[in-house]
Amino acid sequence: MLPAFHPLGEEEVHLTKAAGRHVARAVVARADAPPFDNSAMDGYAVRAADVASAGQGTPVRLPVRGESRAGGPPAGPLEPGTACRVFTGAPMPAGADAVVIQEDTERHGDEVEIREASPTLRHVRAQGSDVRHGALLLQVGDRIWPGEIGLLASQNIARVHVFRRPEVAILSTGDELRMLGDDLEPGTIINSNVYVLTEMLRSLGAIPVALPAAPDTLPGIEASLRKALEADVVITTGGVSVGAYDFVHEAFKNVGIEPGFWKVRIKPGKPFAFAQYGDKPVIGVPGNPISAMIAFEVLIAPCLRKMLGDPQPHPQPVVARLRDPYRRRPGRVEIARGVATREGDEIIVALHDLQGSGSLPSFVGVNALVVLPADKAELAAGDRVEAILWGPGLKGASSFFDGMS
Ligand code: AMP
Ligand code: MG
Repeated sequence: MLPAFHPLGEEEVHLTKAAGRHVARAVVARADAPPFDNSAMDGYAVRAADVASAGQGTPVRLPVRGESRAGGPPAGPLEPGTACRVFTGAPMPAGADAVVIQEDTERHGDEVEIREASPTLRHVRAQGSDVRHGALLLQVGDRIWPGEIGLLASQNIARVHVFRRPEVAILSTGDELRMLGDDLEPGTIINSNVYVLTEMLRSLGAIPVALPAAPDTLPGIEASLRKALEADVVITTGGVSVGAYDFVHEAFKNVGIEPGFWKVRIKPGKPFAFAQYGDKPVIGVPGNPISAMIAFEVLIAPCLRKMLGDPQPHPQPVVARLRDPYRRRPGRVEIARGVATREGDEIIVALHDLQGSGSLPSFVGVNALVVLPADKAELAAGDRVEAILWGPGLKGASSFFDGMS
């Protein structure tokens, strides 16, 4: 599927709207950072040569001329043999090349006693020492996190070019589906998939477009599909299996959507269809809620990440050990739901008792999707498995934070 997904092109957004986006054009520094030589500490700006002989037993006395503070008026040039009072962030006076920290001085009226030498550039944040004007700050594909926002903001870069967010239509199919708050006549259920997929799309950074559920009729699904095809990507749920009321395949064909492949050797999520309308990806996931979620997370999310401009769209599983033995029917890769905790140097994962493709409680509190190899029927306690961290993230002992509670 991955080759069918491409970034959509770029748009320019304000930095305050850029979090989570991938940059579409490299960003270069507009200015040196720091923008001017400034003091890293509270103390006295000096000429290093004037205090070279200073020590605990051999203090050097200098007259104090002027003051420089962050945001204050500029101090005049530093005459040889004098000191200037400075505070953190203050511009260094011209001529000064080092700072003696306050703790190594003693003030006597208009003079200061320096009790420690300070070599050139000690406690000075030199102009351009972090970033040189014109330096590459972000490359195409880099994602904007709070740290990147800080860097760009510090450079007075208010707008960035990022990859567009795809609109993804969610088309649920099923005569039984009702929306939250609807009356539930006998035989009907809430369309939970549309709420779940909306949220999964949103948290990826895509734009979910939830369409009204389509009935289990060929014309009904076809009409909804035509509407859905206005989006950049279409995801249908349900009706993609082999039942008498599973019309999704036929509807795809009838509206001109070219079939790609059908069925994936994965559990849950097997009745999965990939197709294309021109270049537009159209994906059918099963209606079973857990199948739909797993199919989305494992098969669809990487494609959408690529579309969002992520150069490394696949999840990076961690290695974990099973807490308990697990027996299963081999043949398909199984994505089991579990709770992973850190124990010492290891991640231990306890699989949920419920692993049915329709049982929504099997996803509550889950922080690990555990990849069980297709060929293994018996897994023993302690066996190594790969787990995709998910949802609430890893829980467990932390040497640093434990001491704080
Ligand atoms: P299907 O894939 O259409 O055969 O549906 C499989 C199972 O999932 C059936 O029990 C459906 O009632 C249920 N189902 C289908 N679509 C949804 C949905 N959008 N939300 C919740 N359950 C669904
Ligand atoms: Mg159905």
